[in-house]
Amino acid sequence: MEWKGRRQSTNVDDARGRKMAAGTASIGMIIQVVLRMFGAKGLLALAAVGLIGWQMGLIDPAALLGGGGSGQVTEVEYQSTPEEEELLQFVTVVLADTEDIWTREFQRVGKQYQVPELVVFRSKYPTACGTGDARMGPFYCPADRKVYIDLSFYDSLEREFSAPGDFAQAYVIAHEVGHHVQTLLGISEQVSAKRGQPDYNEYSVRLELQADYLAGLWAHHNKQYLQRGDIEEAMQAANQIGDDAIQSRTQGKISPHAFTHGTSEQRMRWFNRGLESGRIEDADTFEQPYSSL
Ligand SMILES: [Zn+2]
Repeated sequence: MEWKGRRQSTNVDDARGRKMAAGTASIGMIIQVVLRMFGAKGLLALAAVGLIGWQMGLIDPAALLGGGGSGQVTEVEYQSTPEEEELLQFVTVVLADTEDIWTREFQRVGKQYQVPELVVFRSKYPTACGTGDARMGPFYCPADRKVYIDLSFYDSLEREFSAPGDFAQAYVIAHEVGHHVQTLLGISEQVSAKRGQPDYNEYSVRLELQADYLAGLWAHHNKQYLQRGDIEEAMQAANQIGDDAIQSRTQGKISPHAFTHGTSEQRMRWFNRGLESGRIEDADTFEQPYSSL
């Protein structure tokens, strides 16, 4: 992807030098991630571990529950590398690009786009959705309307998920910005309201596939900057971070009822649809029968 010399966003908050004070970790975020990745069984296992830890005096529940969004941060000296600085420049350009494309697309359908902020943090960081943890990968918090990323995720994308390349990295940001778009349109809120219902996982899959579609839509409007192999890079990332791929890596088997993001094939298909269409009107993952997504 051609990106050097292009406009940089002013909405990136470089928080790499801000360190969270100890004892402000929140369990809410961990629960969300475990649920997302392993379903209810994973949550039970987490609860059991927590109980044992508490009984043995290893875990202080008051400290865990007390922190979260309030988290105190201290400013520390942060030593970056030239490679990481370049990565920071890169995500700043990608964010600017999503701002331009979504502003135009919202205007086209008579709406007004509000740009999100992108927070670049290291390791752990307080958010309105609980403590962000680098191990969860990049995420979007609807409560503060910010995208969070620890740049070290790009190492794991390359090594653990075998999805190297700058366009794979850009796709990840575009997917999270897709969740911001869904929040602005009120779609995320409708899905959140289904939490606790038996078919909630299905709604979650529809939401995730739509975010992949929206990432594809972004790629559609970026065509003039694409280089050979870019689309394959994004598809490889979508392929590697599908629920089935992650489950077979972490559990050795696949259980579709615990899917919250969709299979690799579905994720690639919806990214591709967005790439071909480029129109928000066609992001109809909620209208299609679940079995034909
Ligand atoms: Zn997502």
